[in-house]
Amino acid sequence: MIEHVGEAIVLRTWPFHESDLVVSLFTREQGRVKGVARHALRSQRRFGGALEPMTHVRATYVERPRQELVRLDAFEILTSPISRPVDYARTAALQFVAEVIDEALPEGAAEDAVFRLALAVLDEMQVGRVWMPMTYFALWMNRLMGAMPELGHCAVCGLVLQGATVWTSATSDGVTCADDRRAGSEPLSAESVRLAQRIFRGRVKELAEEPWPRERAADLRRFAIQTLERHLGERLMTARALECFR
Ligand SMILES: [Zn+2]
Repeated sequence: MIEHVGEAIVLRTWPFHESDLVVSLFTREQGRVKGVARHALRSQRRFGGALEPMTHVRATYVERPRQELVRLDAFEILTSPISRPVDYARTAALQFVAEVIDEALPEGAAEDAVFRLALAVLDEMQVGRVWMPMTYFALWMNRLMGAMPELGHCAVCGLVLQGATVWTSATSDGVTCADDRRAGSEPLSAESVRLAQRIFRGRVKELAEEPWPRERAADLRRFAIQTLERHLGERLMTARALECFR
C-alpha cells in the first residue's frame, strides 16, 4: 500500500454501497484519481463539508494493490466554495469547472497547468465573481487541450481578421470571415476577439478589476463552451443548466 498526502480538488461524488461515496478527485501529484470515502454518508467526522465540488483539500489517500479505487482517509479543507453564501450562478459555474476537468482529463496523469488554472479561477469564484473566471477557464482549457483555434485568420480563405467580427460554428473548427461563414454560424465580435487575446496574455487577477456583467463577452463564452463540447464529444450539462451563453 502506498500512502499519498497532497493537494487536491474535489470534482464530484456519487453514492456507493450503503453509506460510502465514490469521489472523483483532481490531485496535483497524480492527476485525476477515484477513491472511496467510507461511511462518508453516515459519519460527518472525517470528511465534513470537504466533499462539496471544487473544495480544495489536502487529501490523505492510500493506493491498494489490485484495487481500482484508492481509499480516501482524510480531507483537510484548504479553501471551500461554501465558506461564503452561494447563489445559483456561482454554484453552477463551480460545477461547470468540475465537470469540464472531470470529462477532459484522463485518470492518473498529472496536469499541473490545469491544476493551477483551476485554483486561479476558484479564487475568483470564491469572492463572488462568475462570468469572468468562467470565460477565462473555458478559453484556457481549450488551449491546454490543444483545441483552441486561431482567431486571427479565416479558416477557409486565410484572410487576416484583425479587428473584425469573426464567425464561429458549433460544428466546424476555426473561425471564418463573413463571406465564408458556414450555415448556422454566429458572430464573435472584434471586442471579444481582443478580450480572448488578453485572456491568453494576462493573469486572471488583472481582469478581475473590470466589471463583468453576464452580458459581457457572452459570445466569447458561448464560443469557448461550444469548442470544449466539440472537443470532448459531448454536451456539458452544467453549461446547459446555466444557459450562460444566450
Ligand atoms: Zn474567408
